[in-house]
Amino acid sequence: MSELMLYDTRTRAKLRFVPLEPGHARVYSCGPTVYAPQHIGNLRPYLFADLLKRALLAEGLRVTHVINITDVGHLASDADVGEDKMERAAAKAGKSAAEIAAFYTAQWQNDRRRLRCLEAEVYCKATDHIPEQIELAQRLEARGYTYRIDDGLYFDTSKFPRYAELARLDLAGQAAGARIGDVAGKRNPQDFALWKFAAPGVRRQQEWDSPWGRGFPGWHLECSAMSVRYLGTRFDIHTGGVDHISVHHTNEVAQTEGAFGVHPWVSVWMHNEFLDLGGEKLSKSKGHTLVLDDLVERGFEPLVYRYFFLQAHYRQHQAFSFDEMAAAATGWRRLLRSAASVREVSGEPTQAEHDAVADLRSRFWDAVRDDLNAPKALAVAWEAARSTLSPAARRSLLLDFERWLGLGLDTEVPREDARESDPRIDALVLERQAARKARDFARADAIRAQLDAEGIEIEDTREGPVWRRR
Ligand code: AMP
Ligand code: ZN
Repeated sequence: MSELMLYDTRTRAKLRFVPLEPGHARVYSCGPTVYAPQHIGNLRPYLFADLLKRALLAEGLRVTHVINITDVGHLASDADVGEDKMERAAAKAGKSAAEIAAFYTAQWQNDRRRLRCLEAEVYCKATDHIPEQIELAQRLEARGYTYRIDDGLYFDTSKFPRYAELARLDLAGQAAGARIGDVAGKRNPQDFALWKFAAPGVRRQQEWDSPWGRGFPGWHLECSAMSVRYLGTRFDIHTGGVDHISVHHTNEVAQTEGAFGVHPWVSVWMHNEFLDLGGEKLSKSKGHTLVLDDLVERGFEPLVYRYFFLQAHYRQHQAFSFDEMAAAATGWRRLLRSAASVREVSGEPTQAEHDAVADLRSRFWDAVRDDLNAPKALAVAWEAARSTLSPAARRSLLLDFERWLGLGLDTEVPREDARESDPRIDALVLERQAARKARDFARADAIRAQLDAEGIEIEDTREGPVWRRR
């Protein structure tokens, strides 16, 4: 039997996973900044973290999964300048920052649930942990890592020799090209705010007293403070998007390792690649906000998006398109139909098929253990669904795989495809079927093209062709 191997960003290698505390995996995932809806790209980190959690559970481990909710301090630019995203959104909507945060947190939770992401053990909000953040900054101050300027309390990255380690930064190269002037008085380009003072004359909705003055925490501080609070000063796995490696996670490491004198703070750093929309980076700040509900409005069940996600490895770029979604919808429904057709059968696989069942089972879980290789695992699930094994054997395999895939193979009922009826379209579909039988493929293709132009797609199923509007 293989062992669970996970790719670690810090060492750039797949590591055999060994929890620090036997039998217990402790995981921290950077969560959403709740100032706007989470677009479908933002959902990728949580789908990825869900696959990780399900893999750990399948290993028989107890899992403590912590996800934070950023509701203060994340500025428009990661370089500690610009407006606070929460304050800006609140002002624009004429609401309180707390109302905005509650609204978008609920939306994110609802999306996660619809995508069958397992619940975290702890959801923690930055604004609920201001004392912990102040305490961490005080620790850093006591250990000589900080300095104070007009703008706030800053971390002096030159005092932390391993600063470049996680992201393999070229600090000398960066310093040469850096604009140090973004915040007056900063000593090094990479230095970052631990505590920021509210700008003179500006009264923020969210500000607190601190030993340094009234203000608010820097964005990176919350993840160090809350992960330590819930998981301890050393834990197993930290996840997030690749965009976090060079600034946010690098700064988290400097803060936590600096404050507590531990190394490595986190055993395995895992990062998901981005989802691309038409080759362009999907980002809220650029105004693309294609959300899960947009997909639902276009007729895609949320789990179709999960199926789409499973078709790429989490460390691969994935390109979004509606054509790909349509293909995923077909794939998901077929797999579901296959599972639904054996779900109710009773009995066990026969003795004669024991080896074949064991082979599929071990190839599936080997793919999972090989750094969460979803495309490979999905291919094995398909092999099982299409196999000539007995219904009982297929049922046992698909329900086992469902523990990791989370596609609803255990409960979801595939939507009836041809619910709509339209005599003209029905007739065209029948005519196409007849043309195909008569091997008049030119006519059959012409009908498909005509219907396609009208936004109607035909799926050839075992029970014959069905059509639906896109
Ligand atoms: P934010 O709410 O902006 O802090 O982002 C939430 C998470 O989504 C972060 O972990 C980002 O790394 C991640 N993220 C943002 N855009 C994308 C994208 N297009 N594809 C995948 N992950 C993304
Ligand atoms: Zn974080």
